[in-house]
Amino acid sequence: MVYRVTLIPGDGIGPEVTRAAQVVAEATGVSIDWEVVEAGEPAIRASGTPLPSSVLDSIRRNGVALKGPITTPIGSGFRSVNVALRTELDLYASVRPARAIAGEGTRYPETDLIVVREATEGLYSGVEHWVDRDHSAAETANVITRKASDRIVKFAFELARREHRKKVTGVHKANIMKTTGALFQTAFREMAARYPDIPSDERLIDNMCMQLVKKPSEYDVIVTTNLFGDILSDLCAGLAGGLGVAPGALFGDTIAAFEPVHGSAPKYAGQDRADPVAEILCVELLLRHLGEREAADRVFRAVWETIAEKKVVTYDLALPGYTARPVPPSTCSAMAKEIARKVPLVDLATPLPRPKGSGPAAVDPQLDG
Ligand code: NAD
Repeated sequence: MVYRVTLIPGDGIGPEVTRAAQVVAEATGVSIDWEVVEAGEPAIRASGTPLPSSVLDSIRRNGVALKGPITTPIGSGFRSVNVALRTELDLYASVRPARAIAGEGTRYPETDLIVVREATEGLYSGVEHWVDRDHSAAETANVITRKASDRIVKFAFELARREHRKKVTGVHKANIMKTTGALFQTAFREMAARYPDIPSDERLIDNMCMQLVKKPSEYDVIVTTNLFGDILSDLCAGLAGGLGVAPGALFGDTIAAFEPVHGSAPKYAGQDRADPVAEILCVELLLRHLGEREAADRVFRAVWETIAEKKVVTYDLALPGYTARPVPPSTCSAMAKEIARKVPLVDLATPLPRPKGSGPAAVDPQLDG
């Protein structure tokens, strides 16, 4: 079986990290036929537009895409390619796994969370205006619909069931936002009742932030609205080890696109220094989505062991400040090669060593915020 997947290398460090991801994908033995299309700066140079329609056509045709980061030029008049992709393809679920890897770069090595964020409405619906002429007051509409709330909550419960996750937590601010918050809360409660096999609970957004930095291991799948999800995704990426190792995925009903959380890091472009792990873990998520679970497990395991062994890691994983055991940094391509070498060799039968953290053990009782 050959999978046809759209590949958007992007710009900045995008071409380097997507090349690294392809090398690792190849090592799994899963046959992927990459359909390479350009978006971002290379597309502007070639055709004058950062998102040619051929890119959208390719993703629609293949249903699956791997994407490198794309620069949003400031003040050029082009809207963000990333936002345009989400809107044009109705990619309504932004999924960010936050897994600490080998105890590196985190105070909470046991962190293993998935944030599911509604990505089409809420406070990012773009309905906003200045109230007066001298711009001394402004309003943004927080658009929450029952349809979008139902589908994102359902998505989270389905994900939890498929991935054998232990709990789904719905996050909102229904105590203060009596309409928008309450609507999302009701959607969450009614959907939770349809999944009696999956434990669920609710948290107010402020309390959720506090609980996550005290004991992230109490949580598993978190589902929430757009703005809260944006903030929680970054908070959880930070808990798990930071941007260099944070993959992401966007889902619509028939399309899935995988991209790292980090941007195009222009200052490292073309230097073979960028950390390829986030993009490589996007390949892991892509393989999981295709049903290639063993290949996906091998990629995660090879990344874990490469970071744990720390012989061939990029600068961000090698230097003091990230790690208690600094080492000389390697290049992006060398790290990818090392991960690819390990992919067929890893032993999936032995459970991953789960380092225990030193964070405070007790979770405070929930207080009304
Ligand atoms: P960034 O993520 O590119 O960089 C933030 C910091 O992290 C920088 O110091 C950068 O050098 C470092 N960094 C990021 N990824 C790294 C990696 N893989 N290895 C090593 N170091 C890494 O964020 P930014 O500087 O705010 O944005 C740069 C551009 O990327 C902007 O144009 C922004 O709009 C775009 N962006 C795109 C996406 C996307 O394509 N989905 C996401 C975020 C930002």
